[in-house]
Amino acid sequence: MTSSASSQTQGNAQKPWRSTAVVHTATVFEDRFWAPRLRAVREHTLPAIYEQMRNDGHFDAFQEWRKAGTRPIPYVFWESDMSKWIEAASYSLATHPDTNLEALVERAITFLVDLQQPDGYLNLWFTRVEPEKRWTNLRDFHELYCAGHLIEAAVAHFQATGKRVLLDAALRYADYIATVFGVEEGKRHGYCGHEEIELALVKLYRATGEARYLHLSQYFIEERGKRPHYFDEEARARGEDPADFWARTYEYNQSHLPVREQEEIVGHAVRAMYLLCAVADLAYELEDVGLQRVCERLWQHLTSKRLYITGGLGPFPGNEGFTTDYDLPNLSAYAETCAAIGLVFWNHRMLLLDADHRYADLLEQALYNGVLSGLSLDGTDFFYVNPLESQGTHRRQPWYKCPCCPPNLARLLSSLGGYMYSVNDTDILVHLYAQSTSTLTLASHTVVLSQKTNYPWDGTIEIEVKPEEPVEFGLDLRIPGWCKAAHLLVAGEEAPLDLHKGYARISRLWRSGDSIVLRLDMPIERVYAHPAVQADIGKVALRRGPLIYCLETADNAVPLHQISLPDKATLESYFDPALLGGMVLIRGQAHVLETGDWLETLYRTTPPITRTHILTALPYYAWGNREAGEMRVWIHTYARKRL
Ligand SMILES: [Zn+2]
Repeated sequence: MTSSASSQTQGNAQKPWRSTAVVHTATVFEDRFWAPRLRAVREHTLPAIYEQMRNDGHFDAFQEWRKAGTRPIPYVFWESDMSKWIEAASYSLATHPDTNLEALVERAITFLVDLQQPDGYLNLWFTRVEPEKRWTNLRDFHELYCAGHLIEAAVAHFQATGKRVLLDAALRYADYIATVFGVEEGKRHGYCGHEEIELALVKLYRATGEARYLHLSQYFIEERGKRPHYFDEEARARGEDPADFWARTYEYNQSHLPVREQEEIVGHAVRAMYLLCAVADLAYELEDVGLQRVCERLWQHLTSKRLYITGGLGPFPGNEGFTTDYDLPNLSAYAETCAAIGLVFWNHRMLLLDADHRYADLLEQALYNGVLSGLSLDGTDFFYVNPLESQGTHRRQPWYKCPCCPPNLARLLSSLGGYMYSVNDTDILVHLYAQSTSTLTLASHTVVLSQKTNYPWDGTIEIEVKPEEPVEFGLDLRIPGWCKAAHLLVAGEEAPLDLHKGYARISRLWRSGDSIVLRLDMPIERVYAHPAVQADIGKVALRRGPLIYCLETADNAVPLHQISLPDKATLESYFDPALLGGMVLIRGQAHVLETGDWLETLYRTTPPITRTHILTALPYYAWGNREAGEMRVWIHTYARKRL
């Protein structure tokens, strides 16, 4: 039995505990939670995104651009959606070969590769539409952002298929970019307004072993925010006043200060996450403690003052990002799906840098809540914005004019197998729990791990260990921060938890067929927000295991703001096999304000009275999959007895 608080304190004082990511193809999901979702992504989401891109002119809107535009006006960063889709489809092809999907991927790749210019430049807008504006507005035009997504797609496609056509184009483009940007005299000292290429170049370095790509990434990170400010000079060169920047502050794109001097998480949330992914990657590859400290500082600021309980982030639509500390409105929450996805990407990198359960906890919190809410259960409709309260009008859409979120969901979920474990020379670290079979390599030994569990509905996980031959290693099981009591059985015997940064380590000679059982207590918990969060005063949220719950009109046929949950009300969980594929719901006796005795009165001196209401809550990720209605995560706690 353990308290996660003590392990956290213990963890902070310890050395970084590094490990390496495992390829997503190592894991096959066999559960009732992820396996159907991932199948929906393969069978519905990936074809639907391609069809939507084709319909709205992603492939041909630019062909006729110079003639009178009859097509919708495209975005300057449109090909980034194609790249993200190619990346997602490549992950899927690696685990589930599909000739139809492969043909679509080939077509999209041909479209992109045909854009490449003799010098290696490869961009849709600035080739077909405004070639004279190449590299003239890095602040706003997403040129290097698009290059980053192209590189990520190229690496994924090469690793999935062994085909080099997109990779070779990306390499030529990256080599060309390296001739344009850098600290050297005669090069542009710029960097992108929307971070992305920095993390992509690290991927390219890892895929090719070519250190020049790592150094180019390092250049982009180190140059960011230096004075004189590149975006000022660039604006003047365009004949503009830098003060006219529409976002008014370079916090918007995290170039207000050099990266190493940044103390707070600010600006556009997706940009902040992609930046920090690259900072964590560079900290890892260069063993740069200074960059690791930047990540740790901003992580602390985010999680203590600027994060929704769903793992959503960036409350404000105006900058698609952060505002001030504790500003976490529920109804107007922006919390873009891509930002929660970026949080998963970043925390995965933090976890590899230093296996502290807090990073895996946050990864899991975002994944099961703020990310998964972005996708309908059937895989065809998407949320761009993920509020924690709705009056019934917020619905998922099959597509968006700016469709960044759908392919981002597809690429994360299609590669989910890569998030379960990581390894180092001596240990296998278990970060996530799901019924699955994984084939891992540990210091040249092959070890198959099978998880049998009904997670996240139940906290019991049995792990069978099957090494090729008996081998000694440490198996490290994450004890989630939400779990206040965990029990471990090794070979049928209760074993003490040997905790290291929130991971229970079992070191022994493992033989095929050895198994352990981990029991994570998973009671329903009431969660309260810091009193500085105005939106959540006098309210409570419900959590069970990694899942945040919410109320929906479909289960609660009264106005949701009139429901109150007394502190002492008993709550129970139960599995409803018929609801939306089966899920654990929470039920309890609450109150609802009586309105029948108010008649035409707007104000009165007699307090309102209440009647009993049996409250039913479902996991937040599943909301909005039935008829339109209200939703709320934070439930009032005021209680008033019937007079
Ligand atoms: Zn998005």
